[in-house]
This record gives sequence, structure tokens and C-alpha cells, in this order.
Amino acid sequence: MPFVIAIDGPAASGKGTLAKRLADHYGLPHLDTGLLYRAVALALIDAGLSLDDHGAAAKAAQALDPEKLDDPRLRDRAMGEAASRISAVPDVRAGLLLWQRRFAAAPQGAVLDGRDIGTVVCPDAEVKLFITASSAERARRRHRELAGRGEDATFAAILSDIEARDARDSSRTAAPLRMADDAVRLDTTELDPDAAFDEARAIVERGRTDPD
Ligand code: C5P
Repeated sequence: MPFVIAIDGPAASGKGTLAKRLADHYGLPHLDTGLLYRAVALALIDAGLSLDDHGAAAKAAQALDPEKLDDPRLRDRAMGEAASRISAVPDVRAGLLLWQRRFAAAPQGAVLDGRDIGTVVCPDAEVKLFITASSAERARRRHRELAGRGEDATFAAILSDIEARDARDSSRTAAPLRMADDAVRLDTTELDPDAAFDEARAIVERGRTDPD
């Protein structure tokens, strides 16, 4: 059985950093699935198409080259918002699902992070984590990260983005952001990255059925 760690949570909860560190620790490949949705949005924007063109979004999802996820524009603030809009389209989600499942089926296992990994993409994952933090703390982290990349946005604007994104991602009909019944919740509001990693690793160790 491949050792799959499924990590979900809202925007800027720290799930990406944790996913990367867990993947390094266990020697597993890591997929940040948010990048796939961001790449679909970027493909539409680059082609001059509207984010409301659901047919074009579905085609872009099917045509996506997952090897090309290193465009720095994918990490821009506007792309998170755009990704959240196209990710509500069921055909976009269907177009990306197979590829995500194939990634998770790697013989040694994998770590995937996103919004629906434990509920839809990998419902049989050995370990499921749901990472949260208060919206103010998440906005503080995103503000720091964007400032580090030279993006100029106020804390208030980022907080409002995050709250709007939470609301949209949680209320959509197709694979909404939701904690899987068998996931373990980790609130990182009061934890620095090392403490969050230690907690996450302890949860993984407790949840592993076959530590070899
Ligand atoms: O995680 P990240 O902020 O990069 O995700 C961008 C957007 O992509 C999210 O707000 C969400 O709408 C969407 N997404 C999703 N399902 C995933 C990963 C991301 O709907 N598994």
C-alpha cells in the first residue's frame, strides 16, 4: 500500500510548508494541488479568456502540463483569487482529478496538499491532516510572504482576500473545503513552523498503520 499523507486546510494555514517538510522527512514526492488550479487560471488569463468561461477552463484543465508548475506568477496574490473562482467548476475539478490520483499512486506513496485531498482525491489516505489557523494569523503570514516577494498589499486587503476565499471554497457545491471525518485537526495559530512540524509528524506517526 503506498504511504499517502493527505493535507487539507484553508488559504495560508501553513499546510504547504508542512506538506513539503513531511515529504522531505519521509522521502516522498509532494504535490501542491493549489498550483494546478492556479495554472488553469493562468492559462485562461494568458489566452485572454474570461475566468467565467467554464468550457475554456475545463479544456485548460485537461490540457494542463503538470511539468510546468514553476512559473513564479502562479504564486501571485491575484492568482489565488482567480484559482478559487475556476476551482468551483466541476469539469475543471474532474479534469485535474485523475492526474492527482496518479501522482498519489506512486509506489512509495506521496504527500498531497489542497482542499479536497482527504475527502475526494485520496479518501483512502493512510494519514489525513486538516491544518487551520485564525484568519488574522493567516493574513499576517501571507502579508509577510508577499512582502518578501516584493508584492505590495495591505494587511487589510489580504485579510479580506483570505476571508472571501474561505467563504467561496467552503460554500461551493463541487468538493467544498471540508475536514474529512477521519482527519486530525492541527491548529497552527500559536505554533512556529518547527513546532507545527513536530506536531504534524507526531500525528503522522500515530496514524501510520505500517511504519515500514
Ligand atoms: O492552496 P492555494 O491557495 O494555492 O489554492 C488556490 C485555490 O485553488 C484555492 O483557494 C481553492 O479554491 C483551489 N483549490 C481547490 N482544491 C485543491 C487545491 C486548491 O479547490 N485541492
